[in-house]
Amino acid sequence: MLVLATFAYASNLAEDGCACNCCSLNTRTGAIPTLPRVTETPKMSAKKSPPRVAEVLSTERLTPQLIRIVFGGPGLEGFAAGPFTDHYVKLQLPPPGAGYEPPFDLESVKAETPRELWPRVRTYSVRAWDPERTELTVDFVNHGSAGVAGPWAAAASAGDRVQLIGPGGAYSPDPEADWHLMAGDACVLPAISASLTRIPPGSRVIVIAAVDGPEEEIPLATPGDLDLRWVHRDAGAELDPDPLVEAVRALEFPPGRVHGFVHGEAGAVRDLRRHLLADRGIALADLSVSGYWKRRRTEEGWRADKPEWNRLVAADAG
Ligand SMILES: Cc1cc2nc3c(=O)[nH]c(=O)nc-3n(C[C@H](O)[C@H](O)[C@H](O)COP(=O)(O)OP(=O)(O)OC[C@H]3O[C@@H](n4cnc5c(N)ncnc54)[C@H](O)[C@@H]3O)c2cc1C
Repeated sequence: MLVLATFAYASNLAEDGCACNCCSLNTRTGAIPTLPRVTETPKMSAKKSPPRVAEVLSTERLTPQLIRIVFGGPGLEGFAAGPFTDHYVKLQLPPPGAGYEPPFDLESVKAETPRELWPRVRTYSVRAWDPERTELTVDFVNHGSAGVAGPWAAAASAGDRVQLIGPGGAYSPDPEADWHLMAGDACVLPAISASLTRIPPGSRVIVIAAVDGPEEEIPLATPGDLDLRWVHRDAGAELDPDPLVEAVRALEFPPGRVHGFVHGEAGAVRDLRRHLLADRGIALADLSVSGYWKRRRTEEGWRADKPEWNRLVAADAG
């Protein structure tokens, strides 16, 4: 059973000044305005939750790149996913040879081990949370051998344990919107899939999803009226114009107020945000916008770049 949402939506350029849902970097600057939020549930930050140890119950290849892992175990009891559909967790993955394993105290690890042995933090959406079975489903895109979490997921098997914090989250489809737009690449499909479950029956939702090829397409389901458009592009390639951005630009918008969810590669997301605000005239409060990753950067690199990205995004239209 997926827990149902209370109504909540917000622009992600939130009170802490960060345009993403997932970090609590202090990016507050005078240039970044505090924006109105329309929400009944405050944004949830993963960093405010205690570490938990989850156990791998099963793994499944959904596509050549997409790996589904179902986690369980007593460590997930009380996991608070529910209000939002873009809930996420932060995995704390010790590097090979770290000499410690879950459970560990992050502060002690940091105090006692050299930096290169500190856990690598990787952010993943809650594809589903079943509170009755205490089962957490996460879908990992494996981008090849270069990453940390992708290869970890590819090698994971039942009984493996991982430490995580979360959930955080901020978005859920506004049931009052006239229609919904969801745009993103492969790593956004878990959040899009979760969000689709809360589109009201009869409500139109246009999904524009970029994956490497037809073999990476997955079934998407919603009680709403789904208009699904796949875009094929190599996620790692720098393409100008970006086909995902072009697909949104080319879209004939239905009439009425749209609630948008636009997440994915940082450059594409910034372009899309600018387009939706400046060219389409969408209100900032009707957009959930977040950079999930950045081309040529690991998650650590992207985190380091994010304050500057937030500054640039805030200086764009809106
Ligand atoms: C809120 C949030 C939710 C997310 N949810 C999911 C999710 O449910 N599933 C998921 O798979 N990812 C998700 N991501 C994205 C994921 O956190 C990043 O892709 C992360 O960098 C992957 O870690 P890694 O260790 O595999 O690669 P890293 O070590 O971070 O990077 C290694 C190399 O792979 C490249 N790379 C990283 N991500 C991608 C990508 N998405 N596509 C192509 N190349 C990439 C990097 O640029 C780098 O060159 C989410 C991110 C956020 C912020």
